[in-house]
Order: sequence, then structure tokens, then C-alpha cells
Amino acid sequence: MHDFISYFMINPTALYIAVGLFSLCIGSFLNVVIYRTPKMMEQEWRQDCQFLLHPEQAIIDETKFTLSKPDSTCPNCHTPIRWYQNIPVISWLALRGKCGACKNPISIRYPLIELLTAICSLIIVAIFGPTLQMLFGLVLTWVLIALTFIDFDTQLLPDRYTLTLAALGLAINSYGLYTTPTSAIWGYIIGFLCLWIVYYLFKIITGKEGMGYGDFKLLAALGAWMGPLMLPLIVLLSSLVGAIIGIILLKIRKENQPFAFGPYIAIAGWIAFIWGEQIMKIYLGH
Ligand SMILES: [Zn+2]
Repeated sequence: MHDFISYFMINPTALYIAVGLFSLCIGSFLNVVIYRTPKMMEQEWRQDCQFLLHPEQAIIDETKFTLSKPDSTCPNCHTPIRWYQNIPVISWLALRGKCGACKNPISIRYPLIELLTAICSLIIVAIFGPTLQMLFGLVLTWVLIALTFIDFDTQLLPDRYTLTLAALGLAINSYGLYTTPTSAIWGYIIGFLCLWIVYYLFKIITGKEGMGYGDFKLLAALGAWMGPLMLPLIVLLSSLVGAIIGIILLKIRKENQPFAFGPYIAIAGWIAFIWGEQIMKIYLGH
């Protein structure tokens, strides 16, 4: 471990190349996570509902959907995707954005998410260097990318990721990795409560539900990673990010899509994680 760190201290380029290539592959995996997690959840809900409503019937024996099974196929012609068709970015370019068998177009979103993952990961490397903070910073980045796109697609923020992220934040900060243990605990509590209060006020005033519980859990997780002092910045930044992306999407799609707040919290959280202290210093004027 020590040899690794000192090697990368002497050869920062090697670190950038290693993390760059590795995170392209992670990006490819995140595409699978983003596509499959909502489907896995739907399958679980369906089975739960069936079990509750018709306990006498056997559960329909459908193929269980997990992150690794069944193998990836083309959504159009169901031809299995070979390993050499699954190389991040390069395969998409080599296939010119089409399925190798049926020539059905493959969304440009796949290589873009791989590139985004690599770029965000390299920024983490540039900020933290070869440290434990870099390692866990990469994990945070990857989970936030998955959550952003899952929520954007489906208006869902799966507990399995938000709550795991929160637990991980509390665990690493019990050793003071990014903030003190006390600050992590209060970040978690206040992160959850502040959106919960907004949610309740909104419900009392308008009689509608304006956001999901997933949003509270995500902000709680970010609080656990960065402490309560970052929360006002995250909330402010998320409205800013939301306004900018909202305007862009309105121009592109010209139609009213369901509103998800989670992606903006995730993006704002990541910006605060990287540049939060600098932004606060500039803002507070010292
Ligand atoms: Zn195909």
C-alpha cells in the first residue's frame, strides 16, 4: 500500500492514467446500474404486491433481474453484447453508435456517461492526490452519477444507494476523513430534517407532495460526508443548478417532463464536495 502511494507520488501521470482508464470501466458499469436498478426495483415491487394481494398463488417465476444477470443484450434484437463490443467509448465509436447485429441506434448517452465518469474522477485525483480521501471521493462521485441519472430517468432515488452512501459517510468520518465525527452525525440529521420541513410546509400550504423521501435521504447522506456547514451551500447550489439545467431542458425538449430534484442535489453536493470550502471563503469574504 505504501509502495503504491509513493509510486504515484513520484509519478502523478501514472495515477491519472490508471484512474482515467479504470473510471471509464466504472462508467460502463454505471450505465448498467442506471438502466437495471429501476427494473430490479419494479420486479421486487411486483412480487411484493402479488405476495400481499394473492398469497395463495405462487410467485410468477420470472428470471431474476440483477446487476450481473441476465447478460447484456441489444434492447432491440436481443443479440448478446460481446466483451469487445463493451469497451468504454471505443466500442460505441467503432460501431458508429449502432448495434452490431441489427443496426438499431445505441444512445450517445452511454459513451457520454463513461466520459463524464472519467472526467469527474480525474478532477477528484487532481484535488486529493494519492490519498484515502481520493479513494472515497471517487466512490462518492460514482454513486452520485448513478443517482443523478436514475432519478432523472425515473424520479426514484433508491434507498439501497442513498442509505448506503449515508452509512459510508458516517463510517469514514468516524475517523475524521473529511469532517469530524460530530459534524458528520449532525450533517446527517440536519440534512434529513431541513428538506423534511420544506416538504411538510409545502404539503400544508398546497396540499400536494412536492418532493420524495429520497431527496431527504440524499441530502442526509451528503451531510454525513461533509458536515452541516456545507448544507446551506448545497441547497443554494441545487436551486441554481436546477434553474440552469431546467432552462436548457426546456429549450431542448419543449415539453413538460416530471420534475425530479434529486439530480440537482447530487450535482450541487458534488460541487460542494470539491470546491465548497473555496466557494464559502469567497462568499464570506475571507
Ligand atoms: Zn440489435
